[in-house]
Amino acid sequence: MLASLPRGGCSIITQLRTGHVALRDYLERFGHAESPFCLRCGARETPEHFLVFCACFTCERL
Ligand SMILES: [Zn+2]
Repeated sequence: MLASLPRGGCSIITQLRTGHVALRDYLERFGHAESPFCLRCGARETPEHFLVFCACFTCERL
């Protein structure tokens, strides 16, 4: 599957799978975000939250 994606798409998927992605939970560890929590709903902004649980992206998931 990854072989058929453009390089940028592969990179983002890899970042999301490893957790090393520009989401607040990761950025906060290095002082690049003030908190690890989602600005939209207040939950910890992890890749799982971003992809599966954040209610703000329900329409995009559908
Ligand atoms: Zn959220």
